[in-house]
Parts: sequence; C-alpha cells; structure tokens
Amino acid sequence: MQKKFDVIIIGGGVVGSMIARRLSRFQWDVLLIEKGADVGVGSSSANTAIVHAGYDPLPGSLKARLNVLGNTMFDQLAGELNFAFDRRGDYVVAIGDEEFAELEKLMVQGKKNGVPGMSILPGAEVRRREKHITPNVSGAVWASTGGICDPFQITVAAIENAINNGVTVMLETEFQDFIFEGKRIVGVKTNRGDIGCTWAINCAGMYSDFVMHKAGIRPDFKITPRRGEYFILDRAEISIDNVLFPTPTEKGKGILVTTTVHGNTVIGPNALIIDDKEDRSVTTAGMDEIWEGAMKLIPSLKKSHIIATFAGIRSYGNGPSRDPSLNYNHDFIIEIPEEVQGFVNLGGIESPGLTSSPAIALEVEDMLRDAKALPAEKRDWDPIRLARPRFREMSHQERQLIVERDPAYGRVICRCENITEGEIIAEIHAPLPARNYDAIKRRTWCGTGRCQAGFDTPRVVAILAKELGVSPIDITKKGPGSEFLFRKTKEVEG
Ligand SMILES: Cc1cc2nc3c(=O)[nH]c(=O)nc-3n(C[C@H](O)[C@H](O)[C@H](O)COP(=O)(O)OP(=O)(O)OC[C@H]3O[C@@H](n4cnc5c(N)ncnc54)[C@H](O)[C@@H]3O)c2cc1C
Repeated sequence: MQKKFDVIIIGGGVVGSMIARRLSRFQWDVLLIEKGADVGVGSSSANTAIVHAGYDPLPGSLKARLNVLGNTMFDQLAGELNFAFDRRGDYVVAIGDEEFAELEKLMVQGKKNGVPGMSILPGAEVRRREKHITPNVSGAVWASTGGICDPFQITVAAIENAINNGVTVMLETEFQDFIFEGKRIVGVKTNRGDIGCTWAINCAGMYSDFVMHKAGIRPDFKITPRRGEYFILDRAEISIDNVLFPTPTEKGKGILVTTTVHGNTVIGPNALIIDDKEDRSVTTAGMDEIWEGAMKLIPSLKKSHIIATFAGIRSYGNGPSRDPSLNYNHDFIIEIPEEVQGFVNLGGIESPGLTSSPAIALEVEDMLRDAKALPAEKRDWDPIRLARPRFREMSHQERQLIVERDPAYGRVICRCENITEGEIIAEIHAPLPARNYDAIKRRTWCGTGRCQAGFDTPRVVAILAKELGVSPIDITKKGPGSEFLFRKTKEVEG
C-alpha cells in the first residue's frame, strides 16, 4: 500500500472540494482523488449556477436546511476565496391568475424553511424591474437572497485554498474499491495502486451509489441520471438583468431564463431521465422544450442569439430523509453509517447541491467532531485564496502596468472574451495546474464567446505545449483520449 492518509476524499466536484477545504483546517493529512483530468468535471461544471434562496426544498428536509444555511455562507466564502458571486435576488414569475395563486404556496414554504427577504410583487413592478419580461406577467415572488455564481470557479477556488493549506490532489485517479480490516476501511484501491486511509469520504456525485455499495451499505440506493439541457446566448445581442424562474409545477422548477456572472443569458434546463450517466448530448426535442419554456417568460428572445448549447446531469437519488415522518425519498444523504467504520457517506447531492456545498462541508465536519475523530486545528491555516489578474476586468492604467511587467498580458489569445496569454500561463502554473484546453477554458472563460474557440484553440494548444514542455500532439481537450492533433504533417524551418 502507498502512503497512508488520514482522510481520502473520493471525487473532486464542488462538494469534495469544499470538504477538502474545510478539513484542511485540521492537523490531518488529506488526499482528494478525482478520476477526471481536472476537478469540477461532473455536475459541478454544468448546472444553472444559481445560489438558491431556499424556498424550493421540502420543509424539514436536509436539503431545505443546508440550502438556506449554505446560501448565507456565500458572502464570506466569496470574500475569502475571491470568486464571482452576485446576490442579485431571484424571481418566480407567474403568468395568469392560476399561477399567481401558486405564489402564496412558495411564500409559505420559504417561511417554513427560514428564508428571509421574500415578498410577492404585482405584475407592473416585475415589468418595471425586467424590461424583457412577457406582458402577460401577473406577479412574482421576489427572493432577495438568491444569487448567481460561477460553480467551476468556486470548485477551483476551494481546492486551491485546500492545496495551499496542505491537501494533496491526485487527478486521473479512479476509486475502484475499499480495503477493509474487519468492518473498518483502511484504504482504497485505485487505478494508481492502493492508498491507505483512516477515513474515506464519498463525494462521487453520479457514482456515489457505486462507492457506497463498495462500502457494503445501502444496497437499494440508486442514482438515476437526469439530464438538463441549456442554451447560452450572446451577451452582445441580449442582456437579461435578472434570474427568472417560472412558477414551479409537479415536474420541477421549470425552464428559467437567467443572467450569469459572465454577462451571458442562459436558458434551461429541462429534466430528462436517461440511462447513461455520461450522456451529455443535447437533443432537438430538448432544445425545442427549453426554447418553448423560455419564450413564455421572455418572448423577445431570438434563436439567432444562441451561441452554444450544453447539458448537465443531476445525481437524482432515492435516499430517505432523516426525518421519516416527512415520507420523502429524494433527500441528501450525509451520514457516518454504523455498519462500516471510517466512512462518511454522501449521496443524492442534486440541486441545490451547489448552494448547499459549504453547509454540506460544515455538516461533515460536525459529524466527524461528534464521532470524536477531528484532530486539533492548524495554527497557520489561511482562509484566503487570491484570484489571478483578469485583463478584461482591469482599467486602462492597470492594463498598462501589467503589460509593462509581463508582456504576455499584452497578447490577446481569445478575442471574443479578451483573454490574454499571461492569464493562460498563470493558470498553467497555478496551485492546481490547468493541463488541458477545457481546464484553461473553465478557469479563464477563454473560447466561450461568439466564435466558440475558433480563433484561440491552436494558440492555447501551443501555449500549453510550451509551458508544460511537451509536444502539441500530447495536448488534450479534457484528458487522455481527447487529443487535438494526431501527427506532424511538416517540419517548420528556422
Ligand atoms: C442541470 C443541473 C442544474 C443544476 N442547477 C443548480 C443550481 O442552479 N444551483 C444549485 O445549487 N445546484 C444546482 N445543481 C446541482 C449541483 O450542480 C450539484 O448538486 C453539485 O454540483 C454536486 O456536486 P458534487 O461534488 O456532489 O458532484 P460532482 O460535481 O458530480 O462531482 C463528483 C466528482 O466525483 C468524481 N468521481 C466519480 N466517480 C469517481 C471515482 N470512482 N473515483 C474518483 N472520482 C470519481 C467525478 O468525476 C466528479 O468530478 C444542478 C445540477 C444539474 C445537473
């Protein structure tokens, strides 16, 4: 067995990364293993990016409590980790009298969940606040604590802070099984060999059922993948100022239209149960469904505004709530099970898992404390993670200064989004180095504009190859098997 760690976290999504950061405060040797070529490649990279206020989950459920608590933690977290977070509030829009009557139910549910700052607005006020909204709007629930963020940025910021505080991260490392001594987990088997641990934490998202079954618990627990498809619109063409949900139905929250921290408008998602946990395809039927949904809220949207599509997959579980009287079987599972020692089990962390992630990490810390497992805190733990400079956010004077210091900041690599070579190089040498195209894209927002990476891709490949000291042939889009280039076609002289 390789080195023994105190804790191994299985899965580097937003939940695993938040837990890694939380546990980095203690005198513990923590390892996070992630099977992908980067962190945040599962549900945490493809979702709606809303920091939900908390009126949606069933009152009394763990989802409701951790949603509301997680939401309150975002201001401090954004300050410490320096990620983009905009608490601009959200609206649940009603069209017609029947939907207006539904708004009161949300108000009651929000109150039960302890959500502050909610009110019902008349249609005229909603029209005043969002100039593009349908003239048929009859009113809206306004939740002032709702917000928007960049979920990938949060994941990277949390794991970088964890790394700076001593956590080890192994990418392209796939959990395969546990190693037991009696009922106690003493290590994990991976594609890179066996690694010892005292505690293992299941943060495998879509595959949390596989991991818990390997631990020998909850044989009936199953993750059902539910795909959500989206459109991204060109921010030069249309700018929606708000987060606009439709009135929810039994089928879910419905198709929303929202602005993002990057200034684009995003519409979606639908909810389609699928068999394949990796099937992120977008379908014509799905696109039609979300377009129709969005048009009900914003009829002036035009298909010519669309610049990209994507899909994310929800880890829809069948975990019973801790409170059996709720009779609710789709709650978050967060537990230290009795049947096996040295295991913290998480499962069914679907929406609002992003919003809840800091509170989930706190819940895990509290459980470990109750189990008398936590060691002393580190004296030198540093909560601050600094963001790297963003050229497009700088004043003219700041740009001049940074280019004088480092001319790479004067070379624009992505023209749509104004991303420079200096920013890309900085990400390649960050605490968790960006080693493929998507890792650069998600960190810098390079290639996300109107030309959809047509201009920057060969340039980013060349920069990655140079900085990593490898051949361009070895550079991938998102890890092994996604290489851009296959062979040299000619030698360039000079
Ligand atoms: C369409 C959609 C919209 C959503 N919208 C919102 C929203 O607006 N607001 C909100 O709060 N929440 C939202 N969510 C929910 C939120 O995205 C998730 O709850 C959250 O990202 C879950 O994070 P996670 O870390 O548990 O899972 P993931 O991000 O999926 O991370 C799990 C990680 O484990 C890794 N892994 C899996 N198996 C193994 C293995 N064997 N070995 C090693 N690593 C492994 C995976 O590669 C992955 O990186 C949405 C989700 C979807 C899909």
